[in-house]
Amino acid sequence: MHTPPLDILAIAAHRDDVEQTCGGTMLKMAQRGYRTGILDLTQGEMGTRGTAEDRAREAAEAAKILCVSWREALDIPDGRVENTWENRLKVVRVIREQRPRVVILPYWQGRHPDHYTASTLGYEACFLAGLAKLDGSAGVPPARLGQPPAAVSGRGLPAPPPGGDPSESRQDAGATPHRPYKIIYATLYYDIRPTFVVDITEQLEARFQSVMAYKSQFSDQEAGKDIFPAQAEIRARIEAMARYYGMLAGVTYAEPFLQKEVGLVDDVMAIPVKSI
Ligand SMILES: [Zn+2]
Repeated sequence: MHTPPLDILAIAAHRDDVEQTCGGTMLKMAQRGYRTGILDLTQGEMGTRGTAEDRAREAAEAAKILCVSWREALDIPDGRVENTWENRLKVVRVIREQRPRVVILPYWQGRHPDHYTASTLGYEACFLAGLAKLDGSAGVPPARLGQPPAAVSGRGLPAPPPGGDPSESRQDAGATPHRPYKIIYATLYYDIRPTFVVDITEQLEARFQSVMAYKSQFSDQEAGKDIFPAQAEIRARIEAMARYYGMLAGVTYAEPFLQKEVGLVDDVMAIPVKSI
């Protein structure tokens, strides 16, 4: 069985980071027929609320809501995401297996060390994954816990092409170099002006539901109620942030991103977003 490559892979430190920063974009891309995936670097065992097992179930549920084709969590310790050679190789293996064209990383500054470290770790892994002479399997312990991927069938996804392309399959992927074409950074956790936003007006409600799928974290309860906002407050925050970024581009709701490269324009008549 050949698994086709992912079009888009979002990499983040914690389960629920993707939902909170770029879930609307992931859903929108899946709805456009792209194959999307999420790699969570940790399993959430340090969370104030719930266990890693709760998180795994909730992550699978959220993946369904976002129509994600593939999701896995690595075994990097929660709260201790370090940019080590071993951790980079774990991510390299996933990139070589899943062969994404676009990778979404967290922005490289932030409050939580796991978030900004995930950004550098992800970037360096993308680079290393393309090195022909790097043996991605060398010295890598079993990276994942063997949990079934949050396989999401149907739900707006296109059927994989019959047979797929053997050269793009997962079978020989661990060793086959692959470097993503594009890396973009989801900046929602950090106060910085994005270089572009994605209109998620149609996806906002589902994105909110994908965050709410983390019931152990976000349902109203006693444990940790001083650090976790109530549900109504979360909805208001998600909406306010999305409104703000939408306003920057003249749409209702949007998610912010940053690319390091300049934008390339072919037709100045077709540049979106009104100036005055
Ligand atoms: Zn996080």
